[in-house]
Amino acid sequence: MTHILIIGGGAAGLMSASQIRRHKPDFQVTVIEPSETHTYQPTWTLVGANSYNFEATQRPMASVMPEGVHWVKDYAAEIKADANEVVTRQGQTIGYDFLIVAPGLVMAPEMVEGLTEALGKGVVCSNYTNPRHTWEVLKNFKGGTALFTQPTTPIKCGGAPQKIMYLADDHFRKQGLREQTKVVFAAPGGVIFGVKPIAKTLMEVVDRKGIHLRFKHQLRKVDGEKRIAWFKLADGHEEHNPVGITTERDGNLVGIHFDMLHLAPPQAAPNFIRESPLANAAGWLDVDHGTLQHKAYANIFGIGDVAALPTAKTAAAIRKQVPIALENIFLLADQKALSNRHYNGYSSCPLVTGYGKMVLAEFDYDNNFTPDPKLKQMLVFNSDKEHLRLWWLKKYILPRLYWNKMLKGKRV
Ligand code: FAD
Repeated sequence: MTHILIIGGGAAGLMSASQIRRHKPDFQVTVIEPSETHTYQPTWTLVGANSYNFEATQRPMASVMPEGVHWVKDYAAEIKADANEVVTRQGQTIGYDFLIVAPGLVMAPEMVEGLTEALGKGVVCSNYTNPRHTWEVLKNFKGGTALFTQPTTPIKCGGAPQKIMYLADDHFRKQGLREQTKVVFAAPGGVIFGVKPIAKTLMEVVDRKGIHLRFKHQLRKVDGEKRIAWFKLADGHEEHNPVGITTERDGNLVGIHFDMLHLAPPQAAPNFIRESPLANAAGWLDVDHGTLQHKAYANIFGIGDVAALPTAKTAAAIRKQVPIALENIFLLADQKALSNRHYNGYSSCPLVTGYGKMVLAEFDYDNNFTPDPKLKQMLVFNSDKEHLRLWWLKKYILPRLYWNKMLKGKRV
C-alpha cells in the first residue's frame, strides 16, 4: 500500500490529506502535526481591526483532521531523505513512499535588533503574531505617528501589512483622530504592489487617505522604549519628509519616531528545513516551481509557506498547489511519470482598503493580473477596484469555503 507522509497539519497539510483520502482511499496517510489547534490565519487581519472574533479563526485540530488519517502529535525534527524516513522530536522514525513537506514558516524577530524584546508589548504590534493586541493598540491610540512596515524577507500574504494600515486609517477617522495623526508606510520595495492594475488602485487609496509612503526602507532595529524604528535606506535612495514626521540619524540609519508601530516580523523556514540539505541557499524548501517536486528527491514534494516559490505565500496559492502536487504523486505511484500540468504561481491577496471595502489581487509568477471568472457570479466584474461585495467575500464567504470545502478535500 502506498504511504504518503505529510509534515504539518496547516492549510497545505490538511488540504492535501483530505484530497488524498477523497481520491485515493486505498493510500495510507500519516500527518505529523504537534498543535491541538488549527487556525485560519487570513481573518487575523480583521481581528486586528475588531471586525472578526479571534475564537472563530480557530478549531480543534481533531475536528478538522480528515477521517482515516493517522495523526502523529509531534514535531518533525529531521528528514532522512536518502532513507525515506522522518524522525520526530520525540524520537519516532516514520518511513514513507512519498513525503509532502508543509510545516509553514516561523516568525524570526531575532533578525531585527530589538524586535524580540519589543514585539507584542506596548504600542508595537503585529497581526502576524497577536491580532488581538493589534486591536488593543489601535483602540488606545490617541494620535501622533502611526507607522506600518514590513521586513526584507519573504512573508505570508505580502499585502497584510498594508491591509491593517487602511483599516487603522478608517478607524482613526471614525474616532475623529485622523487630523492629529500621520499614517506612514515604510517598505523595502519600490512599489506599493507588484501587480500593475492593483498598484494603480492602491495608489489612489493612499492618496485619498493621505498616507505618507516611504519606499526602499529596510527595517534594521526597533527601540520599543524610545519608540523609534531604524531603517537602512537602499543605496542611492535619499530621505524626504514632506509631512514632517520626527526622524533622526545614526550613521547610515534613519530613525522614525512612532506612537504606534505595526509590522510583519521577518519570516523564515523552520530550522529543520533551513539547516537541512533540502533547503536552497536562502533556506526555503528547494522545489521545482512548476511540479512542486523537490529538486534532488523525486518522492518529496513541498507546498505552502515553506516552499521556495517566487510567488506570494497564501492559502489561496495552496488551493492551486495541492492538486498539482497530488496529481504528480498519484502518477508517480501508478506510472512512474509526472503530470504535464504545471503550477503557474497563482496566488491571491485580498487587499482590504477600509471597513466594507476590498480589492482582490489575483496573479501568477509573472505578476499578470488573473481574476477568477467566478467573481462574475458575485457581480464583480473589475476586482482591481474597491467593492463592498469583495469585503463580504473576505469576511463571510472565504472562511466558510475554507472550513467546509477546502479542508474537506473538495476543490473550489
Ligand atoms: P500553516 O497554515 O502555518 O501550517 C503549518 C502547520 O505545520 C502548523 O499547523 C504547524 O503547527 C505545523 N508545524 C510546524 N512545524 C512543524 C514540524 N516541525 N513538524 C510538524 N508540523 C509542524 N492567505 C490568504 O490566502 N489570504 C489572506 O488574506 C491571507 N491573509 C493573511 C493574514 C495574516 C495576518 C497571516 C498571518 C496570514 C495570511 N495568509 C493569507 C497566509 C496563509 O494563512 C498562509 O499562507 C497559510 O496558512 C500557509 O499554510 P501552510 O500549511 O503552509 O502553513
